[in-house]
Amino acid sequence: MNPKELFAESKTIIPGGVNSPVRAFEPYPFFVKEAKGSHIIDTEGNDYVDHCLAYGPILLGHSDDDVMADVYNQMKMGTAYGAPTENEVKLAKEVIDRVPCAEMVRFVNSGTEATMAAIRLARGFTGRNKIVKFEGSYHGAHDYVLVKSGSGAACLPDSAGIPEDTTKNTLSVPFNDVEALTKLIDEEGENIACIIVEPVMGNIGCVEPNVKYLKFLREITEENDILLIFDEVITGFRVSRGGAQEYYGVKPDLVTFAKVLGGGFPIGAYAGKKEIMSLIAPAGPVYQAGTFSGNPISIQAGLSTLNKLDYEFYGNLARKGDYLRTNISDIVEDLNLDLQVVGLASMFQIYFNPEPVVNYEIAKKSDAKRFLVYFRELLKNGVFIPPSQFECNFISGAHTEEDLDKTAQGIENALKVAW
Ligand code: PLP
Repeated sequence: MNPKELFAESKTIIPGGVNSPVRAFEPYPFFVKEAKGSHIIDTEGNDYVDHCLAYGPILLGHSDDDVMADVYNQMKMGTAYGAPTENEVKLAKEVIDRVPCAEMVRFVNSGTEATMAAIRLARGFTGRNKIVKFEGSYHGAHDYVLVKSGSGAACLPDSAGIPEDTTKNTLSVPFNDVEALTKLIDEEGENIACIIVEPVMGNIGCVEPNVKYLKFLREITEENDILLIFDEVITGFRVSRGGAQEYYGVKPDLVTFAKVLGGGFPIGAYAGKKEIMSLIAPAGPVYQAGTFSGNPISIQAGLSTLNKLDYEFYGNLARKGDYLRTNISDIVEDLNLDLQVVGLASMFQIYFNPEPVVNYEIAKKSDAKRFLVYFRELLKNGVFIPPSQFECNFISGAHTEEDLDKTAQGIENALKVAW
């Protein structure tokens, strides 16, 4: 079946034709046959340089030979046990060794589970109910955080099916706004359990914190006995060996992970101070559990992946990011377009809006329709990025200079049509 027919059929049996909303785009998405390294190939044989990278998990490149060999070996020995393994301990040690705030770790199956559990833990630890998130941040698809959400939920910021009672304790403020948060904490501080923040807002494009904003978050939470949670589902093990907390030099109380940590397999984790993490069942009274939590396949893939991620890897990856962003900026300048190129390390995006984006309000001023024209033109040029202005694009260790030159050329061609 060709992708048009496949999507038509899929829509009759899978809601919207996809198993996660942002994957659907008009007139129909391509269907994937396989992916290797920096490339993804569709069922019609089209080969794309991949900068979607499964929305972030793929850091070494698709189907890395070393990781796959270890995973095959593990598969022969079983795929789920319902009993602990030595590798879980090894991976926990590896996370603790890398991540400044991590003294204890609990593995789960997705980023959604990780943020849900971390928020429950913060409430259990502080005995307070309210939580603060930032407008446009996305922390997964559970009820407490689907308030003014980014990513695929940007078109449905307040999902149907969530009782008001459930979200009445979720407060949100604009990112990078010291005044708004100070005011909120003056009014509500003693009821707030935690502030959960994506240190780099990767679900409204790619928005870095202003200089000192994360330090301000650390100080104001400490002064008010509020826990600071970094949601590093995107930035963890991507922007540096120890994630955004190492990159920006700010240590939160708790951190959530998923994506890269699973080396291409489903995983999530939350970690943090021993004093807080010790409250998790069975050690303490805050319940959290999962049949597949710590499953041996994802744990092995995570271990084998992290083993390959040293400072040299991150240095090389950052150079690729700089190379691509510089090339795109030159193109934008030569074409004299009112756009801006943003990003850090192996993350990048183009905003179809010249105003510096520091929060969701400004991100929303981008011309998202024109972005979609750009997206489709990129596909025609053999480059795949997420089909939304409000997602981030990624680079993997497998991207070659040739790949990045092809991407830059594709972007130039696409911008000429879209702008
Ligand atoms: N937190 C952030 C920052 C994310 O970007 C995402 C997913 O994109 C999540 C949480 C949810 O992770 P998952 O899709 O694994 O449930």
